[in-house]
Amino acid sequence: MITTIQLRPFLPVSTDKWYLFYKKINWLWWLQRIPMLALAIPASYGVAVFSTIGNTLPVVIAAVAGIAFESTYIGTIALGDQMLDDDPIGRRIWLGLNIFAVLASALFNTLAFSGGKYSNISPESITHGALLPITNFFYGFLLHWISTKANKQQQLKEDQERRLQQAKAESEKEHCEYCNIGKPTKQAVWSHYRSCDNKLAGLPKKYTMDGRLLT
Ligand SMILES: [Zn+2]
Repeated sequence: MITTIQLRPFLPVSTDKWYLFYKKINWLWWLQRIPMLALAIPASYGVAVFSTIGNTLPVVIAAVAGIAFESTYIGTIALGDQMLDDDPIGRRIWLGLNIFAVLASALFNTLAFSGGKYSNISPESITHGALLPITNFFYGFLLHWISTKANKQQQLKEDQERRLQQAKAESEKEHCEYCNIGKPTKQAVWSHYRSCDNKLAGLPKKYTMDGRLLT
């Protein structure tokens, strides 16, 4: 799958001044991903809090664990944009990892709000812990779904335009009156006459220069 403009964080615009850098930013791409990042920050905090309960991990390492966990999850969604259609095993691994990551994040967060004990889990701690990761999962999934569809649609459009252009170029060609081969100009057809097998064999003209059969 060729990545189209909607799936790139920066636009292929060249600017000669460094302060015009903002022109390169694909705002659509970034705006679409801000909710994921915003939802991931509190969720990664929850993972970090859980990792410090009972002094299991030092604060700094727990913070890294939280960021690592949620960035893996966001990275997985981003990877999905590049996945090939004809890779069913890859798709299953991708979906499995996504579901596992969101459930693990929901569990870490719920436990973080339950003082680190399964016996303390309450409806309130589930509300605190599970809703952000699950919302993020569905948002990411929807984003991936829409991006893939938009990408495919654009690809189809580009293919169609290319075929139309090819057909147009073909119809505008000049043709050899002996073998009907198409050339971009009349001059090119005339120089082709020097090597045209049909003309050299002394066969009569069979076509018009616009490629129709002589009647
Ligand atoms: Zn010819």
